[in-house]
Amino acid sequence: MTQIIHRTKTRPVKVGPITIGGNNEVIIQSMTTTKTHDVEATVAEILRLEEAGCQIVRVACPEMKDAEAISEIKKRINIPLVVDIHFDYRLALVAIEGGADKIRINPGNIGKREKVEAVVKLAKEKGIPIRIGVNAGSLEKRIIEKYGYPTADGMVESALHHIKILEDLDFHDIIVSMKASDVNLAIEAYEKAAQAFDYPLHLGITESGTLFAGTVKSAAGLGVLLHKGIGNTVRISLSADPVEEVKVARELLKSFGLAANAATLISCPTCGRIEIDLISIANEIEEYISKLKVNIKVAVLGCAVNGPGEAREADIGIAGARGEGLLFRHGEIVRKVPEAIMVEELKKEIDKIAAEKMQK
Ligand code: SF4
Repeated sequence: MTQIIHRTKTRPVKVGPITIGGNNEVIIQSMTTTKTHDVEATVAEILRLEEAGCQIVRVACPEMKDAEAISEIKKRINIPLVVDIHFDYRLALVAIEGGADKIRINPGNIGKREKVEAVVKLAKEKGIPIRIGVNAGSLEKRIIEKYGYPTADGMVESALHHIKILEDLDFHDIIVSMKASDVNLAIEAYEKAAQAFDYPLHLGITESGTLFAGTVKSAAGLGVLLHKGIGNTVRISLSADPVEEVKVARELLKSFGLAANAATLISCPTCGRIEIDLISIANEIEEYISKLKVNIKVAVLGCAVNGPGEAREADIGIAGARGEGLLFRHGEIVRKVPEAIMVEELKKEIDKIAAEKMQK
């Protein structure tokens, strides 16, 4: 299988203080579920997303009252804000004036040339990028007529059409998404897009489903792409609390070594040799390390038979033994702790190592 490695060859595009594309890390995004004009609810949700590790947040902007809320929301949040607009260029202008760090709008859907020019001119003036969002479910009629149904080639053709409108206006701060709810179609569309242009790609499997099914589906599709070196920013779309989208995105990026400063848990599947209540300990430790902004690997293993050796890459870990736990670092046992306090002891060790790593 050919490695495309599109990621690092993309044009770096600034979204507020964050850069998407080029040699930069893959950025985690999510989208609010509140009515955007409900500033209190929207800000509260964004602050929760920030705490979970969301790096860029998007809000829907279906009406003028939503666009008008952008300036107030911006004042009260800390991460770049993307405003999602369909068709109405006036909403785009108000959102940009309000301080949007990026807008998602398809220039080909705006209508008259003057309207497109007005949006592009203001985006340029404010130095913000535009994301073109190609969606298999809403391809232009002429493309569907040409291909008969949504295809990857049709999606790339749509993307190139919108890109050309912006390029003709000398606008190049472009990010593109090629979303489909069919995993195979999304993969093919992103692969073809990576070969067709060098703008950063925003990855996502749209309408992927509930927390469980959507996580599996998104990980399957995005995993293939990330492995091939495609994708500069990700949004996991789930019918769930958006905080879950951030957690899934982080875990997915961690799996590919693409999340900087994130803690990872290694835990065994358990078997008949198990000596401790591993599942609840693993969940507790997973929650404990989820907010650590440091590259640390923690292992929780049911027994010591092959435990510590199997988790040699762990900075710290615990393996169950009869009535006690064996604390180990990089596969070597450092001390025994009674079962009743082993979780607390493990947490103390994690804190110690995290502090050491933060100082480096
Ligand atoms: Fe079984 Fe021990 Fe391996 Fe866990 S670490 S799967 S309990 S042998």
